[in-house]
Amino acid sequence: MIKKLVNTILNKIFYLQFEFSKFFASKILGRKYIRTGKCKGCGRCCQRIYVRHSKNIIKNEEEFERLKSQHFFYGYLKVIDKDESGLVFECTKLNKDTGKCTAYKHRALICRQYPMEEIFMMGGIITEECGFKFVPIISFEEILNKVKKNVVSK
Ligand code: SF4
Ligand code: SF4
Repeated sequence: MIKKLVNTILNKIFYLQFEFSKFFASKILGRKYIRTGKCKGCGRCCQRIYVRHSKNIIKNEEEFERLKSQHFFYGYLKVIDKDESGLVFECTKLNKDTGKCTAYKHRALICRQYPMEEIFMMGGIITEECGFKFVPIISFEEILNKVKKNVVSK
C-alpha cells in the first residue's frame, strides 16, 4: 500500500518535472523538441562528422585549412572521406577501442552540448544507437486536436 503510494507520488513528481522541462524549453528557450536519455559513450558521434560553417558544409580541404585557425576543435579533425554533402571527418581524440574521448576535460562546447536539436535544422541526424532521443514538445495528437478544434469553430 505504502509502496504504491510512494510510486504514485514519484510518478507525479517525474511527470511535473517533465512538464516543467517542456515549458522551459518551448517558452523560454524557443525549442521544439525536448532531449531525453543519456550518453552511452559509444563514440559514434565522433566519427563520420560533417563540418558546417557559415551555413555551408565544408566541401574541400582548402576551406577546411582556413577554418582550422579559427577554433582549436577543428585541429582535432581528420578528413576520412568525401561524399555528395561534403568532406567527412573523424575526430583524432576518439579512442576507437574504448569509444571514449581522450580530450574529455578539454573538449569543445559543441561536444559538451551534443546533441542539440539544431542538428536537425542542419539536415543532420542522431544514430539509432545513440542514448539520447528527441521528443516533440507538442505531440502529434495535440497538434491534430488543435486543428480539429479550429475546423469545428469555423
Ligand atoms: S552517439 Fe550518442 S550515445 Fe554515442 S557517444 Fe555520441 S552522444 Fe553518446
Ligand atoms: S573532442 Fe572528444 S567528444 Fe569531441 S568529437 Fe572529439 S572525441 Fe568526440
